[in-house]
Amino acid sequence: DSARTPLMAGNWKMNLNHVEAVHLLQKLSWTLQDKKHDFERVEVAVLPPFTDIRSVQTLVDGDRMKIKYGAQDVSVHDSGAYTGEISAAMLTKLGCSYVLAGHSERRQYHDEGDALVNAKATKALAAGLVPIVCVGEGLDIRKAGEHVEYTLAQVDGALAGLKQDDIRKVVIAYEPVWAIGTGEVATPEDAQEVCAAIRSRLEETISPSVADSVRILYGGSVKMSSAGGIMAQPDVDGCLVGGASLQVDEFAGICRYLD
Ligand code: PEP
Repeated sequence: DSARTPLMAGNWKMNLNHVEAVHLLQKLSWTLQDKKHDFERVEVAVLPPFTDIRSVQTLVDGDRMKIKYGAQDVSVHDSGAYTGEISAAMLTKLGCSYVLAGHSERRQYHDEGDALVNAKATKALAAGLVPIVCVGEGLDIRKAGEHVEYTLAQVDGALAGLKQDDIRKVVIAYEPVWAIGTGEVATPEDAQEVCAAIRSRLEETISPSVADSVRILYGGSVKMSSAGGIMAQPDVDGCLVGGASLQVDEFAGICRYLD
């Protein structure tokens, strides 16, 4: 759908200090500039660790880059005695556009459940950030054939109570946990099955117009070589990229899947 601008988002996870981050971003920008990348046609974003965001902001502003950026997590609190947490307002102040909510690694290692993910998405939207809500099943659930219901329940939970006009802005990333960091990429048909089911659910529970506006990404071992096939699916509007986003040529290649 031409109304939904494809988004390629690079999740750097806990990698790169601020010097390395600046180098990677500068190289990415040069590579995309060389190709005359049209950022209105395919949006590009990076999600660095918190400690890199100020440096990324300075570089993006200084070089007038069209690459957007965001964070990997956000607090559900506004301010105060929450040692170690980072608020949505702090991220907005740093020029962030996006923030991940409920990445499977947060769900797995920090016990984040749907209610917390919902609270994070709510705070992000209130601060003017776009949450990238991550959903997706583990291997057991996939083997049991329950991946669609399981993922849809996560979507319902993450969006509960949000206003229609806010939901319209949200990005949903379908990331089957068995495909994250494993080199095991889902087939384009697997990605399409669940992304289409998510869109139908939004159509039923929210509205057809919201369902048509929400961007749904696929994530899980995406590489330059697999991006084209995944992006050819009608309900896939972009990719959330982990490992490959640390390699300039791979990530630039993913952003240039139309070439
Ligand atoms: C991710 O972290 O969201 C991800 C999809 O990682 P990878 O591409 O490395 O599987």
